[in-house]
Amino acid sequence: MKCGICGKEYPSDYYFRFEGTCLECYGKMSPGERHEAKFGALMKHPMTSTSFEIHGYRVTKHLGVVRGLAVRSRSIFGRIGADLQTIFGGDITLFQELCEKTRDRAFDLMFEHATEVGANAVVGIRYDAEEVTDGVTEVICYGTAVVVEPE
Ligand SMILES: [Zn+2]
Repeated sequence: MKCGICGKEYPSDYYFRFEGTCLECYGKMSPGERHEAKFGALMKHPMTSTSFEIHGYRVTKHLGVVRGLAVRSRSIFGRIGADLQTIFGGDITLFQELCEKTRDRAFDLMFEHATEVGANAVVGIRYDAEEVTDGVTEVICYGTAVVVEPE
């Protein structure tokens, strides 16, 4: 197994914090970088799916629905920026960026929850978002935690 960052070869995944990142490289990262790297690994995680099956694996156990909830409020500066962009007809990139980050966080929490209940995979993943009050958005990511084994 090869680390995607330093390129070192390791005999097993025991030496990895998660896919593509060895313990040594993880140790050198800032908290922000760690989150980015972890989420990148999760999204590429072969054990998550928006459908109810994972190719090459069969579900042996259903552990119920797991969720991740993330709440974001826009900063006043972000809001002014976005309002101006709206007025001038540009893309609302600030809002998009905010939504993206919140989705990432919700997904991350859901996956952690799944791991806690003993799942090794999550299927049927969905997102739901709702503006709770003005400027505060709640994003929920949910799916079915399952145990799978190779077919
Ligand atoms: Zn490394």
